[in-house]
Amino acid sequence: MHRRNMLKSVAALPLLSLCPSLPELAVAAGSPSRRVRPSDPAWPSAAEWQKLNDAVGGSLLPVHALFAPCESEPDSAACQDVYKNIRNPFYIGDQPGGTQVSGWLDAWTPAPSVWAVRARNAADVAATVNFARTHNLRLVVKGGAHSYLGTSNAPDSLLLWTRAMNQVVLEDAFVPKGCEGKVAPTAAVTLGAGCVWIDAYSVVTTRGGRYVQGGGCTSVGVAGLIQSGGFGSFSKGFGNAAAGLLEAEVVTADGRVRIANACRDPDLFWALKGGGGGTFGVVTRLTLRTHELPAAVGSAWGTVKAKSDEAFRQLIARYVALYASSLSNPHWGEQVHVNSDNSLKISMVQQGLSRDEARAVWQPFFDWVSASPDYTVTEKLGASGGHRPQSWWEIEGNSSMIPDKRPNASPDHGWWEGDQDQVGVYLHGYESLWLPASLLKEAAQRRLTEALFAASRHKDVELHHNKGLAFAPAEAIRASLDTAMNPAVTEAFALAIIADGERPSYPGMKRPPMDLEAAHKDARAIDMANDELRKVAPDPGSYVSESNYFNRNWQQAYFGANYPRLQAIKKKYDPDGLFFVHNGVGSEEWSADGFTRLG
Ligand SMILES: Cc1cc2nc3c(=O)[nH]c(=O)nc-3n(C[C@H](O)[C@H](O)[C@H](O)COP(=O)(O)OP(=O)(O)OC[C@H]3O[C@@H](n4cnc5c(N)ncnc54)[C@H](O)[C@@H]3O)c2cc1C
Repeated sequence: MHRRNMLKSVAALPLLSLCPSLPELAVAAGSPSRRVRPSDPAWPSAAEWQKLNDAVGGSLLPVHALFAPCESEPDSAACQDVYKNIRNPFYIGDQPGGTQVSGWLDAWTPAPSVWAVRARNAADVAATVNFARTHNLRLVVKGGAHSYLGTSNAPDSLLLWTRAMNQVVLEDAFVPKGCEGKVAPTAAVTLGAGCVWIDAYSVVTTRGGRYVQGGGCTSVGVAGLIQSGGFGSFSKGFGNAAAGLLEAEVVTADGRVRIANACRDPDLFWALKGGGGGTFGVVTRLTLRTHELPAAVGSAWGTVKAKSDEAFRQLIARYVALYASSLSNPHWGEQVHVNSDNSLKISMVQQGLSRDEARAVWQPFFDWVSASPDYTVTEKLGASGGHRPQSWWEIEGNSSMIPDKRPNASPDHGWWEGDQDQVGVYLHGYESLWLPASLLKEAAQRRLTEALFAASRHKDVELHHNKGLAFAPAEAIRASLDTAMNPAVTEAFALAIIADGERPSYPGMKRPPMDLEAAHKDARAIDMANDELRKVAPDPGSYVSESNYFNRNWQQAYFGANYPRLQAIKKKYDPDGLFFVHNGVGSEEWSADGFTRLG
């Protein structure tokens, strides 16, 4: 694929021969208030693109929409290849025009950049940043392509694609540069910005016998997730992923390659820990703290369906009480779903407990359900523990993982079966809010139960317990508070996610027409469910990476009191707003498409 694109890029260069006259170029390129599009006279000439291509060792590629081969030749092998692989997140991640989400109703539609640099190192990134700044181009940065908000693709742009920077190096005694003598050496892992989390887990855990806090979805990019704060299944024990960042190599808008850590550019370092991707610079390398592996891991599962609304209320109340008494600790993470069909679905994981300890936690709840005529167990209930943590992310022989079976795919690459539905999803709506732990107090449990029940009349509500950090160890909370995320995360027992969509609908993809009326109805139902939860959590905060595209109060929701500090850092490192993303720090100063500076 890359080879073919490179050949095409060389072939395409002579076509771009409409060189602008020099005065036009100077006027348009000199004005940072309006970015240049391919139709503008100031768009770089073929010779200038060629110069960039030379500077980045031939890594400049033209970008095509995922289904572009099907437009001209629907029967071609290239077109069939896209259909065959479109449910494989690693295939999507390998395409310069790939996005893991196929769009969002009334929000955004995937659109390829004009050109991409498949950067090999920080020097390639710096050359590209300088080129984009000099020519006043709309620059887009992409890693694992998992942005729900569509912030890693934009039409008429130049794409900086980090995928090729995927080295993983274990460090025995890492000291951030400039921190010698001030910070104790620690075990760590250094990851190229193009790595996805399974690359890290395979080296750190499966083969290295240690733990690194990253994301749950194996194909999510490491740099995108760290810059959003980031949660994995065991975050309740280790804090958010950004809290583990020790150092980042980052290219800022001035083209400088910086090493940011607690001792060098500490303000930029802090902003990179959860201040939002694609905003402060291009991260090329990250070093994260590693931890001892937990002694054991396990899970709890099953689905219970209530036979009446009243019985469902009682089921929710019983679960809330169980969570408050026995699950609100660093061991338990992941999800329970409060569903609109009056069912409660349990998909929890734990670290640190034996099988007997895990069962002892859940057995009273399971016994109560089984003893009542008001409930049907529609998926067997159970709890486990004592499993070997080193096998958690192993692909081979793991019945919960789907391996990437493409020829030449890395044997380390695979994705959770439970994540399959999300691959290429087209979103109708998405909302998240942090539910404060104060709602678990005995006096408040009834209100919480009522709110969950009322919300579930509109849509299924997912409680992601690992994405709220209340009840995490004090050290994890302290480190998470030293990130740019909304501090509300540390007081929340769960992130409630209400979202829905449908199967992939990429531009150019053949599929039955979308039922737009039903899709809009679904979006409204998500809003109504969210309104019910807001009655008990009026000012909740929302997770930047898993949030509502249309949130008008995003500054406060994503970052809380941290927003003014983030704005100041943005002004310092990117005064002309080279880095723009939808609802990113400083984006208020730009039009929605990031092309025109407002005011
Ligand atoms: C299916 C799915 C599952 C998910 N699971 C989880 C989960 O388990 N836990 C969780 O916390 N979140 C999860 N997320 C959200 C995810 O963490 C964020 O969307 C994250 O930003 C994705 O990073 P990426 O590199 O894969 O995506 P991209 O779309 O490539 O990037 C996301 C943003 O970060 C920017 N960015 C990427 N790389 C760089 C870089 N090197 N330097 C500067 N900016 C960069 C991009 O410009 C973009 O704005 C999930 C999302 C999806 C779609």
